[in-house]
Amino acid sequence: MKTSRFLLATTREVPADAQVISHQLMLRAGMIRRLASGLYTWLPLGLRVLRKVERIIREEMDASGAQEVLMPVVQPAELWQESGRWDDYGPELLRFKDRHQRDFVLGPTHEEVITDLVRREIRSYKQLPANFYQIQTKFRDEIRPRFGVMRAREFLMKDAYSFHLDRDSLAETYQVMYDTYSRIFSRMGLDFRPVLADTGSIGGDASHEFHVLANSGEDAIAFSTESDYAANVELAEAVAPAVERPAPSKPLEKVHTPGVYSIKDVCDYLKVAPTQALKTLIVHGASEDAPFVALCLRGDHELNEIKAEKHPLVAAPLTFASEEELRKVAGAGAGSIGPVGLKIPVIIDRSANVMADFVCGANEDDYHYTGTNWERDAQISDVADLRNVVEGDPSPDGKGVLQIRRGIEVGHIFQLGDKYSKALNATVLNEQGKATVLQMGCYGIGVSRVVAAAIEQNHDERGIVWPEAIAPFQVALIPMQLHKSPRVREAAEKLYADLQAAGIEVLFDDRNERPGVMFNDMELIGIPHRLVVGDRGLDKGVVEYKNRRSGEEAALPVDEVVERLQ
Ligand code: ATP
Ligand code: MG
Ligand code: MG
Ligand code: MG
Repeated sequence: MKTSRFLLATTREVPADAQVISHQLMLRAGMIRRLASGLYTWLPLGLRVLRKVERIIREEMDASGAQEVLMPVVQPAELWQESGRWDDYGPELLRFKDRHQRDFVLGPTHEEVITDLVRREIRSYKQLPANFYQIQTKFRDEIRPRFGVMRAREFLMKDAYSFHLDRDSLAETYQVMYDTYSRIFSRMGLDFRPVLADTGSIGGDASHEFHVLANSGEDAIAFSTESDYAANVELAEAVAPAVERPAPSKPLEKVHTPGVYSIKDVCDYLKVAPTQALKTLIVHGASEDAPFVALCLRGDHELNEIKAEKHPLVAAPLTFASEEELRKVAGAGAGSIGPVGLKIPVIIDRSANVMADFVCGANEDDYHYTGTNWERDAQISDVADLRNVVEGDPSPDGKGVLQIRRGIEVGHIFQLGDKYSKALNATVLNEQGKATVLQMGCYGIGVSRVVAAAIEQNHDERGIVWPEAIAPFQVALIPMQLHKSPRVREAAEKLYADLQAAGIEVLFDDRNERPGVMFNDMELIGIPHRLVVGDRGLDKGVVEYKNRRSGEEAALPVDEVVERLQ
């Protein structure tokens, strides 16, 4: 590919609304563009990476014996009514009517559709076990789409559904999927952990999430220092032995009832008029699940009930001066200021350096801390998660103590049992000819999220550093003075042709740009290998090689380049 024919939409600007590095770099590298909240267009560069991720997943799913299908995004309401999720799923499920006033949904997941298919197509135990997968668009009307494609509304998922006569067969396929997922994420060059997960509302016996470790991750995962125990924190909390905690450093004072407040409520509470200049900022509801509601009562700003993303001031990262400061704010409890380590957007007044006199959640119903002070732009690092389980607590398996890390959920596997097959009456005839309700498993990978997660783990101050397996191109070929030196042009064109003939994907920068611009762009977009062809090198019969990750440089004899890069 030549850059003159390729939409290389790089930009130096750091987009103001992009809080996590992967989102910033995906925009800066020209991988994605936002269409509307949670909706993204994949540009050619981004799509190349997405397709690589897809290909690895497809190869491994095929190798596992799963069969690929493709189901509609639009699903009839009747199926969701039959499973009971029409009522249970909540507002993440986007519902709409067609011209005949029939109800439909945009599929957030496909258990209903696949179960409907299987109950019609599979009659006998002899056709089992069967595992069907697809790589397809999902829509979830996320309450707070954020971090670009990491938490989008429309996104690409690989979802698979397996069907079995009995639980043993389900457990077997579950293990195959567990191993397949491990291979998939290993091949992508990601540092990941499978962790035990709560089966929660979906029910069933067993569930694992696959997390890519990254400080920006929205989830917390707990590991034992001395055993293989690894679980997401919700589960670790649910099974953890009780630990006595020291009392909060500050007595709690009852200040207000948590929740979403009307302007009038707050003004009544503070005994002020809405227009009055105020000296306090109250921040509420900064939990993972609740939409942010921040009440800006500072200085000359109008008192307003605002949602973080909508506010014209700024959604800036909220950071703390020290762990102590943080603990003062958060007390011993969980979640009400959101996960630590993640920079949470909070409406703040830009003009304030020290944000004084906050009122914030103390994680105890009806109680808040008053008078807390946060320093802007101060960093926190390595602070244990603010949950009921914290680092150093005994591991639930009794072996060692817990370490807590942040993770990005990129995959999730479930033994569902008969939850959907029972509701939809999906049965097969067993060996005795008796109708038997199917056992079912489901297995998801956030294909588009993986791309962002890979960047969270693989970047430096100059941009993305792709793992080889998912890089958009393997080689960046940069000629010096292409438009002035016929010799350089000839050598570069030949290298380009030879590399391509050897099956290596090359991005040939044939723009008439300054070397610095070309180098910066190729580093920003993260191509693993760089070759510079110039007259000086050619005098000695070499091209200059540089490795994006290690920075290693070498002069490669022109006729050895292809061999060295294979
Ligand atoms: P999360 O906890 O992040 O909301 P989930 O548990 O709701 O994810 P699953 O139903 O387990 O998601 O879906 C399978 C996979 O799809 C997830 O492991 C994740 O990688 C991906 N995924 C889920 N929601 C989104 C989203 N809004 N944007 C991008 N990927 C997503
Ligand atoms: Mg979700
Ligand atoms: Mg989850
Ligand atoms: Mg999940």
